[in-house]
Amino acid sequence: MYAIGVDLGATFVKIGLVDNKGKVYFRRKIETPPGADKTLLIDSIVNNVKDVIKESGKQVYGIGIGVPGPVDSQKGIVHYFPNIKGWKEVPLKAILEKKLGLRVMLDNDVNAMTLGEFVFGAGKECDNLVCLTLGTGVGGGIIIDGKLYRGGSMTAGEIGHMPINETGPKCNCGGIACLERYVGNRYILERAKKAFGSNITLEALTSLAKSGNKKAVAIWTDVAEKLSVALVEVVNLLNPDKIVIGGGISKAGELILSPLKRQIRARAMKDQAKHVKIALAKLGADAGIIGASLLIKLK
Ligand SMILES: [Zn+2]
Repeated sequence: MYAIGVDLGATFVKIGLVDNKGKVYFRRKIETPPGADKTLLIDSIVNNVKDVIKESGKQVYGIGIGVPGPVDSQKGIVHYFPNIKGWKEVPLKAILEKKLGLRVMLDNDVNAMTLGEFVFGAGKECDNLVCLTLGTGVGGGIIIDGKLYRGGSMTAGEIGHMPINETGPKCNCGGIACLERYVGNRYILERAKKAFGSNITLEALTSLAKSGNKKAVAIWTDVAEKLSVALVEVVNLLNPDKIVIGGGISKAGELILSPLKRQIRARAMKDQAKHVKIALAKLGADAGIIGASLLIKLK
């Protein structure tokens, strides 16, 4: 049994054929041209999916697609993409089904990644799981009793937009003091620039901290502490078995995990704190493709 997984990102579109054990074959990675015309992007997805199916010679029973923005996954409509212009209320499922002649399911990329980690990754054997992606944006996906929780209007899981203070900096979403305003890529880099007096990459900040640089360690510890404020609330509210952390910033590994675990043990309610495990995501760059393919199988 094979499905196609499509990970539609603002920078790249990744496509792969995925078997029922989560193994990816015939990967394709194409650039998402900046300011790409909607029709061009859709045609590029269609042509590349067709190529992958042809090249593989396998019988494919559907296409799952994870997209970088809010969607109505039941109707298969993209509401909009914050980082790709020209998409507004696009019935992507219907368009692709017509062009490809196969069943198509879509969901937002964080939900797709959450499904991937839940079935084949760090969240295996957990019925109650929260996945967090740390990057430019901070996203969250929630599994409750073995099922993806989407919420009343399909937009649950916005952990990055939980306020962690009463007052604080304004966020793009219109909120104040959202978690993302403290632990999103941009803001970590701003803080690092202030501390070191010049631009510094996240990789450099991580290796400095690993070699014991106190200023670098302090920045990562602060990121972990800000994260812990939101995650203590998540732990108390949802009582998850596990919290899985992925995305570029998670490459800082123990620099974030250790202080985060310590804070959650110290601040969350006892039973919930004792029960929850905190781990890094396992599927890496394939998470989006694998998760998207699962949209077909798990429906
Ligand atoms: Zn926000």
